[in-house]
Amino acid sequence: MSETAVDLVRRWLAEADRIVIGAGAGLSAAAGYDYTDTRRFAELFPALHRRGLRARYQLIGARLPAPLMWGYWATHVADIRFGAGGHPVYERLRAVVGDRDHFVLSSNVDGLFTRNGFEPGRVFTPQGDYARYQCEIPCTRETWDSRPIVEAALAAYDPATGEVTDPAAIPACPRCGGEVFLNVRKGPEYLVDPYLATGRRMREWLAGPASGERLVVLDIGTGFNTPGVVRLPMERLAQAHPGARLIRINRDHPEVPAQLGDRAIGLAVGAETVFAGDQNARG
Ligand SMILES: [Zn+2]
Repeated sequence: MSETAVDLVRRWLAEADRIVIGAGAGLSAAAGYDYTDTRRFAELFPALHRRGLRARYQLIGARLPAPLMWGYWATHVADIRFGAGGHPVYERLRAVVGDRDHFVLSSNVDGLFTRNGFEPGRVFTPQGDYARYQCEIPCTRETWDSRPIVEAALAAYDPATGEVTDPAAIPACPRCGGEVFLNVRKGPEYLVDPYLATGRRMREWLAGPASGERLVVLDIGTGFNTPGVVRLPMERLAQAHPGARLIRINRDHPEVPAQLGDRAIGLAVGAETVFAGDQNARG
């Protein structure tokens, strides 16, 4: 990767009138939340490590007894969703956008955009948000703030066994008393309702650029697990808007559609390379 390519990306960003950001797991990995990180997993989840588990991605969809399952999810969500803000990659991205008109489409459920300065009304997260939970049936379309159930589970969490030791601290549906889970897309029970209004605003925003405005589509860390959520829509946007430029930052999958020609560039680097905290240090 040459320095010239990063410079070109920075120039395109500087020249943009409007910026639409599409983000996937690779961006949060650059901010330190890597679902394949085995070292951090061993630190946070010693009991699961002893059972032979090695990384958070292995827990996605895993069936565990409720005390162990909520021990994991409460610890994971407290770390990845409710931890302190101040993530340099996201903060730098926010600073680069500046006062330009923008919108974000993210498949991440960790809230890192809004925790680092982006307006909630400009961040569409169709895959959900760990900050809410829902009934597993679901018996109602209502969803609830997950912080209280995460805090209650953590208060009864025993790191030695990895379990929530008090049955009363195992989360349950406030309405039917049945099983609950975080409000994230994992199956047909998922309730997308809390995010639909923002999705509508994003569609209207995308439909309404003044002619002659330069749109930059900035696609970061989106792979092929769920390409239909962010990666492919970003490509279609760049193709549909005359003069739009597509910037793809992706360590493993930097390819861009050939038909975009010199309106697209892919960088095979992590986001931290492009959005380094000190790249424009004054002095
Ligand atoms: Zn219920």
